[in-house]
Amino acid sequence: MITGLSAVVLLWSFFQAPVTCGAPVRGRDDGCRNNATGLLMGCHIRQHRWQKLKMLILR
Ligand SMILES: [Zn+2]
Repeated sequence: MITGLSAVVLLWSFFQAPVTCGAPVRGRDDGCRNNATGLLMGCHIRQHRWQKLKMLILR
């Protein structure tokens, strides 16, 4: 039960949680500040999503 619940929380934070985009932006230390839904999803700039995925894969 606990693992099922934490999996749901994990999925929610990946795809639904209100977060800042945080994609790396040239010339800025703190990255993109736009609102995004989910840690994996990035903001309305579609390229940011791919930048974040690329960062995850490279790490
Ligand atoms: Zn962004």
